[in-house]
Amino acid sequence: MRIDVITLFPGMFTGPLTESILQRAQDDGHLELNFHDLREFGIGSYRQVDDSPYGGGAGMVLKADVIVAALERVELEGEKRKKGKKREKGLKPHRIYLSPRGERLEQSKVEQIADKHEWLILLCGHYEGIDQRVIDGGWIDEEISIGDYVLTGGELPAMVLIDAVARHIPGVLGKEESAVEESFSEALDRKKEYPHYTRPEDFQGLKVPEVLLNGNHAEIDKWRSSQLS
Ligand code: SAM
Repeated sequence: MRIDVITLFPGMFTGPLTESILQRAQDDGHLELNFHDLREFGIGSYRQVDDSPYGGGAGMVLKADVIVAALERVELEGEKRKKGKKREKGLKPHRIYLSPRGERLEQSKVEQIADKHEWLILLCGHYEGIDQRVIDGGWIDEEISIGDYVLTGGELPAMVLIDAVARHIPGVLGKEESAVEESFSEALDRKKEYPHYTRPEDFQGLKVPEVLLNGNHAEIDKWRSSQLS
């Protein structure tokens, strides 16, 4: 999967996306991440990206002309690169704006995105957000929120989305890290997972449930099902 991120702060993504499973996914070619500095599309010598809101009020709004220029450039460059390559799904990117006003991100949505799209463009807002005409004009396919609270920018939400989606790209998780039987997965009826234990068997008087020690897999499955919530 290819994911392009449009942000005013590309530096924020180093660290969370360059360690562990997500770095390995990139090294192995399962995931390609590209970051585009919105400032580069700013207007004039000051590279202006925002302006005060019509109607007054606090805060600044990211400009539609700047964002659309960035979205169109990223899309065009991506399409040029993709041409000639063997593709299984559509050539068009799925363009997501991270926004508190968007649809709340849930596991089923994560799976749907991973399954349906092989190219995402994520737009991170800042300040008061973006000019509504970017959405109304059809440059965004969907708005996604990571929860009912407000963050300073769309960078952390974009990282959350990337991490959650990447786990569902075939090959990203090793066998021992399978995403099939996890909290909110279809296999667990979208319920929260059962608890886990590892050695030692007795930790400061706290014992591992007996059923997990007897090797009876039918009993273990039954116990685990009973622990879903
Ligand atoms: N004025 C906006 C509102 O009241 O809905 C909040 C803007 S917020 C300070 C700046 C940016 O952070 C947003 O444009 C969005 O990209 C991002 N953001 C903040 N909270 C978010 C959330 N819960 N989910 C997704 N994106 C969020």
